[in-house]
Amino acid sequence: MAGLSVNGERLWQSLMTMAEIGATAAGGVNRQTLTDEDRRGRDLFREWCEAAGLSVSVDRMGSMFARRQGKDERRPPVLLGSHLDSQPTGGKFDGALGVLGALEVIRTLNDHGIETQAPLEVVNWTNEEGCRFPPAMIASGVFAGVFDLDYGLSRKDHAGNTIGEELQGIGYAGERPVGHRPVGALFELHIEQGPILEAEGRRIGIVTGGQGTRWYDCEVTGAETHAGPSPMEVRRDALRAGAALLEEIYQIAHRHAPDGRATVGEFQAYPGSRNTVPGRVRFTVDLRHPDGGTMDAMDHALREVFERARGRHAGRIDCQVEEIWYAPPVAFDPDCIDAVRQAAAALRLSAREIISGAGHDAVYMARVVPTAMIFVPCKDGISHAEVEYASPEACADGANVLLHAVLARANA
Ligand SMILES: [Zn+2]
Repeated sequence: MAGLSVNGERLWQSLMTMAEIGATAAGGVNRQTLTDEDRRGRDLFREWCEAAGLSVSVDRMGSMFARRQGKDERRPPVLLGSHLDSQPTGGKFDGALGVLGALEVIRTLNDHGIETQAPLEVVNWTNEEGCRFPPAMIASGVFAGVFDLDYGLSRKDHAGNTIGEELQGIGYAGERPVGHRPVGALFELHIEQGPILEAEGRRIGIVTGGQGTRWYDCEVTGAETHAGPSPMEVRRDALRAGAALLEEIYQIAHRHAPDGRATVGEFQAYPGSRNTVPGRVRFTVDLRHPDGGTMDAMDHALREVFERARGRHAGRIDCQVEEIWYAPPVAFDPDCIDAVRQAAAALRLSAREIISGAGHDAVYMARVVPTAMIFVPCKDGISHAEVEYASPEACADGANVLLHAVLARANA
């Protein structure tokens, strides 16, 4: 089986055909979850799965599972897949590569009459993107027990429609319970959505886990006063004090390079008048790192930045930071990671270990199922955009690694 490889041309054709559903004028895809476009994408996927001899079932969150029998049906299935929903101005590859790459694995096994010990299931998760129904990755989250089913079904879009209603509307409100069944392993193939593989000329990313994320709300309070008569020394300028903190915050990430991240994505000054010294600013901080201990150290460093600032301003300006959310880092399963590593090596594809910067269904599933991911480079690291692009060779590389990793796991 060492020489076995997917049909890259067939995979590319499938990607391009799927991308016609919800195609945008600028070459992207708008196939938001539970819309008519999503229904058409699901129908096509179901048709392809059935043509490949798979039996398709749908769970109560609308996630689709296309099963190929194993020689030993008592063994839990190996899941492979991703998501077919997109951003409003999304691309052809984010999610679709993982689902159609998984289908290509099945088609390849069929072509060669290869059976596996464990059954295989190609999965298409509902609402990975979260742009229409926040939060993201809701269906895999329910599967993994992060959210309960009622919470999942009751999420609303801007128009007030719930996921449950919209699943009924497109005919994908399935009967099957969500989760609560054994799964042997899960593999998700995805474009990197970052620039590292392309910059280093590597063809495969062996994803070892997902970053931890901490979100904070910050507030600096001084006093408003007139921009003219007030001498600089007597001011309690909240914007000036707040802005002085920013570089110290970015340095926390630099001190934990190369994996540390610090982002201030929102920054507002009040009252927002050009001839009034701002009396208050509020801003957000997003800290990330793949290691839990380092995340704690970064959290500590951020609190120290604020403590030092309070000391400097000696009661004249107050600086407060409050943590509002913490998602701990996720480490993927060592055996599944090794299956990906071995597959890339056997195929002689240059590879490196990498941490996922974005959220994925696999990150939730890793809490309950042995999981790993495979990344392939995408042009300029761009995704969630109509110009998103992965080459036919990159897509085939990823599907080949998926094929061999899944074979190793399903026959182990
Ligand atoms: Zn995705």
